[in-house]
Amino acid sequence: MPERIKHVPLDIEKVKPPRAEIHLIKNQCKGCGYCIEFCPKKVLEESEEINARGVHPPKIVNEDKCILCSFCSAVCPDFAIFVLEKKQEETKK
Ligand code: SF4
Ligand code: SF4
Repeated sequence: MPERIKHVPLDIEKVKPPRAEIHLIKNQCKGCGYCIEFCPKKVLEESEEINARGVHPPKIVNEDKCILCSFCSAVCPDFAIFVLEKKQEETKK
């Protein structure tokens, strides 16, 4: 069995987990659903709306759970989704 981490990191107060900013180009989406299917954190769902291509693009339902793996972006055949890291304020000392 792997050894568990027994100590809290010394800089735990300073370090914040990165937050995602998901960008969806709705009218470029062809509604294949790959991003929804393969997101490991179930961040996306099919929306009710219909885009310019006549399909249902995904909607972002859980941006806080995104781990910035960019898998959605990698599997999207139409380059309709990408993820950036949100800028955070510098931690005060
Ligand atoms: S970056 Fe990863 S976790 Fe975030 S929405 Fe895309 S597939 Fe899901
Ligand atoms: S993978 Fe791309 S084209 Fe397919 S549903 Fe997601 S955003 Fe749309």
